[in-house]
Amino acid sequence: MAGMSYKFILFDLDDTLLDFKASEFHALNTCWELFFKDAISLEVYTRTFHQINRGIWREVESGKLKPPHVSYERARRTLKHVGLPVRNAEELGARFAFSLGQVAQWLPDAKDSFRNIASRYDVGLITNRLTAVQHPRVDSMGIRPVLKTFQISEEAATMKPKARLFERALVEAGYSNQDTLMVGDSVTSDFQGAINSKIDFCWVKPNTHPLTFGFPKPKFHISSLNELDSILS
Ligand SMILES: [Mg+2]
Repeated sequence: MAGMSYKFILFDLDDTLLDFKASEFHALNTCWELFFKDAISLEVYTRTFHQINRGIWREVESGKLKPPHVSYERARRTLKHVGLPVRNAEELGARFAFSLGQVAQWLPDAKDSFRNIASRYDVGLITNRLTAVQHPRVDSMGIRPVLKTFQISEEAATMKPKARLFERALVEAGYSNQDTLMVGDSVTSDFQGAINSKIDFCWVKPNTHPLTFGFPKPKFHISSLNELDSILS
């Protein structure tokens, strides 16, 4: 679409640039091997983890649980649920976060698309996940030198979709909301956050995926990051 004059492109990290499932798969395998192998199967551990993890993040979103306590609390509840001693929760929590941070797998085409965009626009990252997980992953992506801002909810003590996290990103990068395009996969955190901050939004999601009920049409909808370039030029 011609005539767009964005100067700053703000990206979500997980499932927009990086494959979070690849990191999680590695962490689940590692921690099952170290802590759960003798008690439960990998399948049961994985299912239990996801169930507990969903509850944990709901509590974070509602403000009941603070992000710095996520790793420990998730580990404690998982151990307790399967009847293992919770005294290992600290170690399990730390190991899980460390293992997540060890894997930074780009989504197909994302690396070239991101580098192409970053060569022509200022870029930044905004993510809701944990500090201990995201810093090592961004280091291994090798993109830190090009980032005008890198906002992690745990560090900022606020999270998407709250406008506060987006405002921090804009202030640090030195751009206004009108200069900016937010690119992300999540309707409830990325799109809602862009709406709250009056930033245009580009939704990255396969076309087969229906838009969440009650949301307006996003400014752009692409099925893969490699379409972003044609939108911007
Ligand atoms: Mg995401």
